[in-house]
Amino acid sequence: METTTEKNTASNFIRDIINEDMRTNKYGGRVHTRFPPEPNGYLHIGHAKSICLNFGLAAEYGGLCNLRFDDTNPSKEEVEYVESIKEDVRWLGFDWQDRLFYASDYFEQLYEYATTLIKKGKAYVDSLTADQIREYRGTLTEPGKESPYRTRSIEENLDLFQRMRAGEFENGAHVLRAKGDMASGNLNMRDSVMYRILRASHHRTGDKWCIYPMYDFTHGQSDSLEGITHSICTLEFEDHRPLYNWYLDQLEIYHPQQIEFARLNLTYTVLSKRKLIELVNGNHVNGWSDPRMPTISGLRRRGYTPEAIRNFCERIGLAKNDSTIDLALLEFCVREDLNKRAARVMAVLHPLKVIIDNYPEGQVEQLEAINNPEDPSMGTRQVPFSRELYIEQDDFREDPPKKFYRLAPGREVRLRYGYYITCTHAVKDKQTGEITELHCTYDPATRGGGSPDGRKIKATLHWVSAAQAIPAEVRLYDHLFNKPNPGVDGVDYKNNLNPASLEILPTCWVEPSLAGAPAGSRYQFERQGYFCVDPDSSAGKLVFNRTVQLRDSWAKIADN
Ligand code: ATP
Ligand code: MG
Repeated sequence: METTTEKNTASNFIRDIINEDMRTNKYGGRVHTRFPPEPNGYLHIGHAKSICLNFGLAAEYGGLCNLRFDDTNPSKEEVEYVESIKEDVRWLGFDWQDRLFYASDYFEQLYEYATTLIKKGKAYVDSLTADQIREYRGTLTEPGKESPYRTRSIEENLDLFQRMRAGEFENGAHVLRAKGDMASGNLNMRDSVMYRILRASHHRTGDKWCIYPMYDFTHGQSDSLEGITHSICTLEFEDHRPLYNWYLDQLEIYHPQQIEFARLNLTYTVLSKRKLIELVNGNHVNGWSDPRMPTISGLRRRGYTPEAIRNFCERIGLAKNDSTIDLALLEFCVREDLNKRAARVMAVLHPLKVIIDNYPEGQVEQLEAINNPEDPSMGTRQVPFSRELYIEQDDFREDPPKKFYRLAPGREVRLRYGYYITCTHAVKDKQTGEITELHCTYDPATRGGGSPDGRKIKATLHWVSAAQAIPAEVRLYDHLFNKPNPGVDGVDYKNNLNPASLEILPTCWVEPSLAGAPAGSRYQFERQGYFCVDPDSSAGKLVFNRTVQLRDSWAKIADN
């Protein structure tokens, strides 16, 4: 696998199209894209792909990218979603400057466009019921039937449409439809619905309207009004392109060029707002920003960086066919980025008390530790050492199996940045037999972890000093679903939820340099992985999310 960060140089079919348009001066050298979310949920990693593509291409060609909310469905849209989307796009590192738009800003213009089409005899008011409309539409193999209302006069259509707007009719009594071709092989061209009556308050226009344009009658014209050059969208809109072009042709307005690409699918998760809403509303997760969610806000809380996500989006490239990307690639990108920037610290997740019997009681000394061996400019810090420490339960075995080189009775190990210690004996709970503490001795000549006489030590353990350590809760995450492709097989994807996707470790200890670490700070816990401070942290207790495991949980330091 490629491990360098390649910057926007790889060719892809959209760049090829833009390069050709630049060569032929199709748009006078302009590149103007947009990211057009419907504010009906939080953004997910699939949207990040679209954001990186639209904002990225604009930046690359010295062009512009708009953020536009395609807010045509008042019953599913909320201000909360608008705000979260803005925050997520900004966090990913993109700036729409003064180009924040809403399709609802164009409602009056769209009404005018609809009227224009009626006047040209290209749109009519239909009074069939929703069921009848569906029945008349036909199927992929059978042509549709024309509505008996299709022959209404232009005057009658204008009158009815104006009265629809005025609120004279019940929801569903009429719709405005395009006069397409009921025999078209493309179902979208069979008299597509343009407007419906819907009494619902809109998050921006309130109760001003009781008719709303359909997404298909809005999207293409919005792009046209904004002078978009390359209107990039996912493959499911390929069949809508003839309809969008038809509207623009009939209205005789500026034509953006629609280009479709394959949406991102990821293993072990679902990327559909409808399903993500179900997970939130059904309390299968703790809200949209649950660190197990593939949402941008979930990934942020988990500790993913915008750089890693952008790098991932560039690396997966663009395709014309749907495919599924391995979640491991995203994790690889996160690890690669955090390796460079995350400070190393010591934290003990499953504590076992160690008492160093020959270390003076009450003495505390400060040992120097390196913050990031990958980046010397990150400097060093002091870590306290004293008579009582915590190590990981896993790092001790009473009867060590072959190839277990860590601590055992009579065995010597190195404490990272500390001393060599030798275990003398373990103390057990008389009732349960559980090991409650270890007694050890230390060699004062090994301060800092160096070997004075060249004697060989096979294991290096991380540790914290008990008296100075800070209590912490650590939340470990596994895949949200236990199948690589939870959405297929005809079963409800919710049956594939992984019951072990969250494990909470309530009594962990972290070194005191982490005191007061603000939410969002990211660290590598030596030998354990990358962790991020959660907003649930309080003055008395830090809470950490495990962002991603180290590739090899017995990282290099165990062997050196
Ligand atoms: P969902 O299927 O999750 O509900 P959507 O397509 O309905 O998503 P929109 O808000 O309409 O969500 O999406 C905004 C933009 O993001 C669109 O241009 C859409 O094509 C793109 N997009 C959505 N999902 C993906 C994905 N998985 N991969 C790439 N682009 C996506
Ligand atoms: Mg959509």
